[in-house]
This record gives sequence, C-alpha cells and structure tokens, in this order.
Amino acid sequence: MLSAIVVAVLIAWLGLTALRAASGVGLDIEPQEPEDVDDLEVYLVCRECGTEFRVTRLGELQIPRHCGERMEVVRRPAGAGA
Ligand SMILES: [Zn+2]
Repeated sequence: MLSAIVVAVLIAWLGLTALRAASGVGLDIEPQEPEDVDDLEVYLVCRECGTEFRVTRLGELQIPRHCGERMEVVRRPAGAGA
C-alpha cells in the first residue's frame, strides 16, 4: 500500500520534471554538487573595496561578506587576459 503511494509520487515527480525540462522554463536551481573550477578562475570580489579572493572549488561555497555586502562571484576563463 505504502509502496504504491511512493511509486505514484515518484511517477508524478518524474512527469513534472520532464515537463519542466521539455518546456525549458523556470528552473533557476543550480546544481549544488561541488564543481571543479580549474578551467575557470573564480573570484569573490568585494564591490565596495575591490578585494578579491581566489576560489578553487564551488558548491558548498558560503558567500562571505566584506564591507557589509555579500561578495560577488566572478568567473573568468583561466588564462584569458592574464
Ligand atoms: Zn570590502
């Protein structure tokens, strides 16, 4: 009985996911897996004072604050403009 409910929910969820994927609408959720950013240079930049921190891995990143503002995540292709 319970398993039937679980299966029904699962099918509904899969259907909704497929519909969203097909319509290409409204998924602003970024994958939260740790992302290897070796090909990109990712920096946390303070817009107030210009302080930059190099980030080597994203995913579980907590955006720190600097000068009372959340720091901005800036991605730059590795090697470009360097
Ligand atoms: Zn700052």
